[in-house]
Amino acid sequence: MSETAFQPTRPLPYGRQNITDADVAAVTAALQADFLTQGPAVAAFEKQFAAYVGARYAVAVSNGTAALHLCALALDVQPGQRVITTPLTFAASANCVRYCGGEVQFADIDPATGLIDLAKVRTLLEAHPKGHFAGLIPVDFAGLAVDLEAARQLADEFGLWIIEDSCHSPGGFFIDSNGQEQQCGNGRFADLAIFSFHPVKHIATGEGGMITTNDEQLFQRLLRLRTHGITRDPADLIRESEGGWYMEMQELGYNYRLADLNCALGLSQLARADQGLARRRALAARYDAAFAHAAGVQILAPGRPGHAYHLYVIEVADRKGLYDFLRTRQIFAQVHYIPVHRMPYYEGLGWRAGDFPLAEAYYEHCLSIPLFPTLTDEEQDYVVACIQEFVVADKQ
Ligand SMILES: *Cc1c(COP(=O)(O)O)cnc(C)c1O
Repeated sequence: MSETAFQPTRPLPYGRQNITDADVAAVTAALQADFLTQGPAVAAFEKQFAAYVGARYAVAVSNGTAALHLCALALDVQPGQRVITTPLTFAASANCVRYCGGEVQFADIDPATGLIDLAKVRTLLEAHPKGHFAGLIPVDFAGLAVDLEAARQLADEFGLWIIEDSCHSPGGFFIDSNGQEQQCGNGRFADLAIFSFHPVKHIATGEGGMITTNDEQLFQRLLRLRTHGITRDPADLIRESEGGWYMEMQELGYNYRLADLNCALGLSQLARADQGLARRRALAARYDAAFAHAAGVQILAPGRPGHAYHLYVIEVADRKGLYDFLRTRQIFAQVHYIPVHRMPYYEGLGWRAGDFPLAEAYYEHCLSIPLFPTLTDEEQDYVVACIQEFVVADKQ
């Protein structure tokens, strides 16, 4: 096989950051600036990120999980309140509800997309009196955008708020009923949206996250909660100012700030986000073509417009076999995800195997294969050849 003659000169993980000389220069400049944290790079990153996703406001935070926690706090999730999310996500999407003492209710996926099935969400909502559920946390799994217009209709009908977990989908969009592209995180339909800047995501800041919204009140509350619940804004004070130093801690908040160093890296990365996204889509199209006629390899929602391709997921019969085989070839695939309700912690809350059969069936066969902007065509061809070699051998 001619393709396998190529040997990669580096291990090929499922995702990795792309750091350029411009990024290094930006961080170096930030190190020499007056503020290492709480300086001007934070607001600059927030402004540019809000513009990138088409939202009015953005709040930079220390990571995507902190973003979820602050959202749950800003929406006043109370002990015992019930919130619906998908089992096919990273645990943090559900954990943010638990941080506030709320109860997580899962709804199974649509196996054609891997996204939460809104028909199942409706069934859940209709089975209980209005007010039984407080909110919905849909996830743009792998980079495929949830139809938030439909989710919003459902949420309005049943009085829910929406937090869009857009960690996989900066630059992604869905097409609304008017044929318009609706950017993930643009705040048109969801109350709040969150992003992560972990190195495997589209934009890396080391650790980092962002919340976007069009709601001015939620925005102000998030700013306060991000920094201990403290405000210095004269317009927001409860008591009379006692002098220039005066500030008030008005509610229990956290230190979930993102430093200027990280924001400087984020700004530099954001300037290249479109390029990275275009490369991800081009690589995904090459995978789609390579696997279109490969018996034994299934791909999820090929060619869907607006897909941001955080992950490229294939489904194969012998997933463990392929995972182990690829490792011997220096290809480090990953599994997204072990369904959240199958985690021992959530089983301790009463969830069981069999509760969400479609997410569980998906988990049995899924594998995320290398997809990141600096993956070369040659490296990708090598990945494809290795997968085909295994799948063909597996069938004999
Ligand atoms: C990465 C991720 C998170 C958490 O982000 P961190 O920055 O790692 O805390 C939450 N939800 C999803 C879907 C993610 O992929």
